[in-house]
Amino acid sequence: HAKEHDLIFIRYNEGMKKRTQSRVELENDMRKALERDEFFLEFQPQFSLASGKMVGMEALVRWNHPKRGLLPPNEFIPLAEDSGLIVPLGEWVLKTACQHNRDWQLQGYEPVTVSVNLSMRQFRQYNLADKVDAILKEVGLAAKYLELEVTESMTFDIDTALNQLQSLKRLGVHISIDDFGTGYSSLNYLKNLPIDRLKIDRSFVKEVMLDGNDAAIVSTITTMAHHLKLKVTAEGVESEEQLEFLKGQNCHEGQGYLFSKPVPARVLESEFLNRLAG
Ligand code: C2E
Ligand code: CA
Ligand code: CA
Ligand code: CA
Repeated sequence: HAKEHDLIFIRYNEGMKKRTQSRVELENDMRKALERDEFFLEFQPQFSLASGKMVGMEALVRWNHPKRGLLPPNEFIPLAEDSGLIVPLGEWVLKTACQHNRDWQLQGYEPVTVSVNLSMRQFRQYNLADKVDAILKEVGLAAKYLELEVTESMTFDIDTALNQLQSLKRLGVHISIDDFGTGYSSLNYLKNLPIDRLKIDRSFVKEVMLDGNDAAIVSTITTMAHHLKLKVTAEGVESEEQLEFLKGQNCHEGQGYLFSKPVPARVLESEFLNRLAG
């Protein structure tokens, strides 16, 4: 019995060691990746459901790892959060997204908003608003063309969130609540926090034609957003049927594979951005 037990114990340890090693390895790689320019952004266009026009885009980070290939954010953002690397990485994302948006405006494309995801660590920084302000000034982008996405969990401590969001709003940037409906905060913050938009999580949109509960949730969120004078964006729109349902609810904007997957900057420019008339 003792032997068998030891063996299991050793196997367990080796498995753990491997996982820890690859974690540490990936973390070390990430430290160098910023200097080595291995991160890049893709952009997913967002459309007005009433006009069909492209009105904005969300910047999404990717990592071109020298050995592991292309890594999606789910494989390194949590690690970056744990290690604190999300702070410099998040600043790089913010600055790069603003630069792209400014460049497109200079090239004569119709101005649109770029949305950038904030992580909890970034949101907790006392000087976040100063950093955002500095980046906007350095890059030369007007604040109204930047939207910052926060999640419900970041608004859990409502006093801190209120302070932070007010400082950000004073700059003139927009604020949206990402993955709305999946968090556990009370509706109370909706009336107290200076937010501009709710993004309905794609888990609700996904089954809107199949599941009456999901349809009711999407409809309720949209109606509530209208009453609170908030904009509402549906995430993960994949089918015409979903689009028609959302239009019927007067949902303002949509984002999802039906319109486009996230694409590299060059593709966004050639296929989605509109030239200013005249
Ligand atoms: P998110 O903010 O909810 O971003 C939307 C995700 O849904 C993206 O995944 C996008 O590719 C995917 N998506 C969009 N439309 C559809 C659709 O119609 N169907 C399906 N099945 N999926 C769709 P992605 O790019 O893998 O990003 C995953 C998450 O990683 C993001 O979720 C966000 O939480 C995080 N993330 C990405 N970039 C950043 C960043 O720069 N900073 C931080 N802090 N987090 C980021
Ligand atoms: Ca987002
Ligand atoms: Ca989302
Ligand atoms: Ca469901």
